[in-house]
Amino acid sequence: MEECYDPVIFGVVLDAGRYECQICCGIMREALQGPCQHHYGRGCLERTVLEHGCCPTCRAPLTLLNLEPARLMRELVGDLPRRCERGCTTIIKLDEYESHLLHHCPMMVCPHEQCGAVFERVAIDNHRSRCEYDEAGRLARLKAVELLSQQFHQRVVENAVEAVSPALRDTMRLVGLCAHRSAKITEELDQLSIPRDDGGSRKARKVLLAKLKAVEDAASQLQQAMKLFTTTLDDI
Ligand SMILES: [Zn+2]
Ligand SMILES: [Zn+2]
Ligand SMILES: [Zn+2]
Ligand SMILES: [Zn+2]
Repeated sequence: MEECYDPVIFGVVLDAGRYECQICCGIMREALQGPCQHHYGRGCLERTVLEHGCCPTCRAPLTLLNLEPARLMRELVGDLPRRCERGCTTIIKLDEYESHLLHHCPMMVCPHEQCGAVFERVAIDNHRSRCEYDEAGRLARLKAVELLSQQFHQRVVENAVEAVSPALRDTMRLVGLCAHRSAKITEELDQLSIPRDDGGSRKARKVLLAKLKAVEDAASQLQQAMKLFTTTLDDI
């Protein structure tokens, strides 16, 4: 059985005596009256009649069958302005309150009963994305976290590549230089190997061979360094 209205829900100070249910001191909800015209909230009067079989004011005998809607009082109470329990600033006629909640209130309550959060209607997507009772929102959150971690990983790799690429460029330049020098020496050697076996060319050949060896050593060192870079990149 629904009780009468708590006076605090109304947006104005009421002429309390006028609308007050004398049984519970609330504001009469669905006012009922007996033939004696004394009226009360429906739940309160039905309960009293069942228990005591009479009107609480004048003691006239009553049964549930004697009771009828107190129409004028219902209209008066229905016209009372009440506040919105969701906290919007609209003052609504009591009769229009259900419709306000359904269609006009800018605030809404999370559809997940266990949640109970109240937020602006336009912010529903935002709330769903963080509501712990919303499965779609939970999945979206997981996805977002995954994406974030992917982006983070990618950023780390990019940073690492950025950090090593100048060194890599230098290495590549040196490798190119080595190759160029080694090709040049080989060319000179070829010219010297034309059979003119005098002492001078033998000496020059020896010097060039030593140079070539040094260049090849440098090239192999650079190659090692390149390998190290590549492994480091793979590890990131
Ligand atoms: Zn009452
Ligand atoms: Zn009465
Ligand atoms: Zn509202
Ligand atoms: Zn929620």
